Amino acid sequence: MIDNSGTSKVLSESEVFNNLYRNIEHLPVAMAILSNSGKALKHVNKAFSALFSYDSHCENNSNHENIYSSLRHPLIQKTASAACELGRPVKKEGVEVSIEKATGVERKILDFQASPILDYDSAQTSGILLTLVDTTKVIEYQKRFGESERSYRNLMESMAVAVYTCDLEGRVNFHNDAAVALWGRKPELGVELWCGSHKMYTLDGTWMPHDQCPAAISLKENRAVKAEALIQRPDGKIRHVLVFPRPEYDINGHMIGLINAVVDITDRKVLERQKDEFMGIVAHELKTPITSIKGYAQLLTGEISDFDDGTFDKLKGRMLLQINNLIILIDKMLDVAKIETGERVFKKEKFDLLSVINSVVEDVQQSTKSHELIFDSITPVNVVGDQEYIEQVIINLLSNAIKYSPEAGRVLINLREENGNAVCSVQDFGVGIPSDQVGTVFEKFYRVKSEAVNKIGGIGLGLYLSAEIIRQTGGAIWVESKSNEGSTFSFSLPVII
Ligand code: ADP
Repeated sequence: MIDNSGTSKVLSESEVFNNLYRNIEHLPVAMAILSNSGKALKHVNKAFSALFSYDSHCENNSNHENIYSSLRHPLIQKTASAACELGRPVKKEGVEVSIEKATGVERKILDFQASPILDYDSAQTSGILLTLVDTTKVIEYQKRFGESERSYRNLMESMAVAVYTCDLEGRVNFHNDAAVALWGRKPELGVELWCGSHKMYTLDGTWMPHDQCPAAISLKENRAVKAEALIQRPDGKIRHVLVFPRPEYDINGHMIGLINAVVDITDRKVLERQKDEFMGIVAHELKTPITSIKGYAQLLTGEISDFDDGTFDKLKGRMLLQINNLIILIDKMLDVAKIETGERVFKKEKFDLLSVINSVVEDVQQSTKSHELIFDSITPVNVVGDQEYIEQVIINLLSNAIKYSPEAGRVLINLREENGNAVCSVQDFGVGIPSDQVGTVFEKFYRVKSEAVNKIGGIGLGLYLSAEIIRQTGGAIWVESKSNEGSTFSFSLPVII
């Protein structure tokens, strides 16, 4: 060994250790020298003292025992002995140690390494150098980061909007349940590219290859994109979506992938279309009565003069009928608005359904010559509800039965009691309803798509209104129908004694 004067000399063991103590004293890593058995603590450096809040220069410090007991942790002891026996360094990570300090017991997580100190001819181990790295904070940050990542994922999971992420190559690496519900399938994570939809189309129906979809553009061009598209699910259903892909960056601003929110606007688009259709239908329904009222007004003002008394009477009658139709149309629209805003509260009164049906049938019969309204079978029965509105439901069903069976001459009415319910049915022998549309006729604005129905006026609100009234009275409404054979509309209300 070479001493300070540059001459070669054999150092005593204590000189070797003193040199070592001096060399490690100010190193920024906590270090301790243990006896070669690993059982006794011989020296600690400043960083070590700081870790244990121990003053190394005060040998009699009462903390000395505390350090020593911390170092007697079974794993540390075992690692030190192993290093000693094997004659090479042994490492352990994430060891939990309780350190007693004046302020109380502190829990630390340490990575440590026990390295044998070999004497100068490397023949013998003369001690163990223990290096400790305090990883408590790092582990805590990792835990907190894991927790915040978990809550971020939970947040995305619980969102009603479909959300997914892709890595830098565009591989889908996360999606929430709403995305699966929208796509109608689960993409293979880490494999499938850009999104999980089965097929995509532009709004004009042109097929959109996945690598040209908005998510791919966002990632390739490193920019946020907002676009509308059509998604086809494996079950064939088409969803109209708004997508908002945007690149994601790490804290250094490097792009790491993309996040995309997919909003299903199919229902909104259907409503928009229905609203447009409705405006068209209402305009058409308003035009007919207004044209005949205008004709009458022209007669009164003398704009039209060459008419006889017969024409005048005919026009007068037509005008009254058209004014009534207008009032019915406006009432229906007002009723829908009132029921939907909750403004209309239904009364709960007990009444005899049979006498209500009788009087409605009488009124409707008076206004029609084309059809005979026939009681098929009837039973007197009391129900609870809003009599005025239940009357409206019966009028609706009867006038539809007449309206949609222009070639038939009769409508059958039936009132019976079934399992504690009063069931009223109105049967016609008219155009009927195609089986694929039977389930939708109670929807707002729905009109069967057929040539026969197109010829007959209507705005698709009567059945919706009837269904709302019956539902809010605690009953049920349904239809059985066959195209070109006729329909039977029925409603039930709980019987009251
Ligand atoms: P509207 O008759 O004003 O169109 P409704 O809500 O009363 O509206 O009816 C909705 C649709 O249901 C109608 O457009 C028609 O296609 C169908 N429908 C209703 N009643 C009958 C019936 N008795 N026979 C055949 N189709 C009917």
